Amino acid sequence: MCMNEMHTASHWSAKKGNYVECGLCPHHCSIPEGGVGICGVRKNVGGELGAIGYGIYPAVHMDPIEKKPLNHFLPGSSILSLGSVGCNLRCRHCQNWSLARASPDGLDENFLPVKDLLGMSSRDGSIGVAFTYNEPSINFEYIMEAAPALRKKGSNVVLVTNGYLEKGPWRELMEHTDGANIDVKGFTEEFYSQIAGGRLQPVLDNVRTAFEMGVHIEIAYLVIPGYNDDDEQIEGFVRFMVEKVSPDVPVHFNRFHPDHLMLDVPSTPVSTLVSIREKAREGGMNHVFIGNVAGKEFNDTICPGCGKTVIKRGWFSATSYVKNGKCRWCGRKIYGKWT
Ligand code: SF4
Repeated sequence: MCMNEMHTASHWSAKKGNYVECGLCPHHCSIPEGGVGICGVRKNVGGELGAIGYGIYPAVHMDPIEKKPLNHFLPGSSILSLGSVGCNLRCRHCQNWSLARASPDGLDENFLPVKDLLGMSSRDGSIGVAFTYNEPSINFEYIMEAAPALRKKGSNVVLVTNGYLEKGPWRELMEHTDGANIDVKGFTEEFYSQIAGGRLQPVLDNVRTAFEMGVHIEIAYLVIPGYNDDDEQIEGFVRFMVEKVSPDVPVHFNRFHPDHLMLDVPSTPVSTLVSIREKAREGGMNHVFIGNVAGKEFNDTICPGCGKTVIKRGWFSATSYVKNGKCRWCGRKIYGKWT
């Protein structure tokens, strides 16, 4: 038997007929005995919900923090990055489907005990641990165990997440998170239901909550031609970020490449991304980046106060002119984690 079938999940309730209802994310899967939820890593084992992805991390790499992407979080540093399997969304354009659509069955050799992770987290200059590559929040129990211990020893905890979690568990997770890159995948409920297999509103609520709780956040918006690049969605997203969150939160408009079930959609033209960046700046966003496109001019940080470059970026390297959290030249505060 897989050892992780024995790890009981949190946030579920028993239902009639030996069903269980998982309350971790807005899907609220009702799962019959022996079945798994949409995410593939929460299983009804004898009328209890098992976290069968607990500690299964087949992908372990050291990455530049800019690759998450987080551009205002200890720029130029490296972070131990872990990827598990499964996802609670069903994006037709998934760029990481080999992990997101995989099952934890048969992956026991990839089990990483928390105590081993603690030993690895600051090796080779790592600033901490990023839970990334697949959706990390569905491995809620492991992160809730590892994150406080990591922070206690001075390691940063970073999540790269779709933000699709119920409010209560999301707050619990954010209490132990230093930095998060959160996807906003489009800006209509129709896009979320038809392309991503979820709902938009819970994600927007969680973006606000994370920011209000003081977690350093950055947003990734993958621009898919003909699906989420129209003026209405872009303007709505920009308005939401500027008016309901903060104009200072860094936003990454990333280039789409054909993948998974969207092989018939062309890559995003660079001109589209440049035009969206201009709209976002005109709409009041202070830190707008273009991702998955070569060219450092798309990724330098410009001070909103004096217009000078405060972080110059190369290919995953960075030279910072931010001093004590402020622009070295004009003294304007720059949103981010710098020390
Ligand atoms: S976390 Fe998984 S099992 Fe739970 S509700 Fe979401 S998709 Fe369903």
